[in-house]
Amino acid sequence: MAKIDIGDLLGDWDGYEVVAVARRSGMVEIELNPVGGLPGVCTGCDQEVPTVHGYERRRVRDLPILDTPASLILRRRRLACPRCGPKLERLSWLARYARVTQRLADSVTQMCTVMTVKQVAEFYRLGWDTVRDLDKRFLQRRFEPVDLHGVTYLVVDEFALLTGKKYVTVITDAVTKRVLWVARGHRRENMRPFFELLGSAGCQAIKAVAMDMNSAYEKEVRHHCPQARVVYSLFHAAFKYGARRDQAAVPVTTTPKAAHGNPG
Ligand SMILES: [Zn+2]
Repeated sequence: MAKIDIGDLLGDWDGYEVVAVARRSGMVEIELNPVGGLPGVCTGCDQEVPTVHGYERRRVRDLPILDTPASLILRRRRLACPRCGPKLERLSWLARYARVTQRLADSVTQMCTVMTVKQVAEFYRLGWDTVRDLDKRFLQRRFEPVDLHGVTYLVVDEFALLTGKKYVTVITDAVTKRVLWVARGHRRENMRPFFELLGSAGCQAIKAVAMDMNSAYEKEVRHHCPQARVVYSLFHAAFKYGARRDQAAVPVTTTPKAAHGNPG
């Protein structure tokens, strides 16, 4: 019978190999050592470093194996980086001071979208506080304020919700298509907090703002970004109402020169 490498079967432990597997107190314990001779990547400067400063023994949790909780015991390398000094090596599957592998963290946060923290902790037999911390960090990353650095072309839209009695204002980066801001209402003051967040330097960097011709946003844009062109984009309107692109005219601007690009 061919010998099966459990590391190949279960792992994704890049740079590490299985040296021992045991079952203790209802838990599968897998001991991992770094594969010799491979240079590590420094967590400080992201450069390859061939010299090892030392090892530290770490125990982290991974996904369960056949419904049994699994622990990894690894000799994690601290590299002797010539630029940063002694630094932990970067691993794609384990964050720097994490108590669980990345794939377990991903599973936990996915489960937290449909189950309570307590239920997820029981399911994975993890500490309640571990699950809570993972979920909290995931939510922080997901909802942290968007980076407005380098934004120059904006598209402002209003959308009717459900019955059409309520509206939201959506501001998008015309270049990257990222949604930057969403607010209730479709009055000019509803977009004011966006410009406050953008700050005066950010407002000065805005070159053009595309919007529907009938929207209430123009005065607010002119107040915060007097240098910006306001573009009544027919393509923008055509896009919204589902007309074909070749039926849409070139964007019409309120200044004689056409705006740069086609922010709609
Ligand atoms: Zn370094």
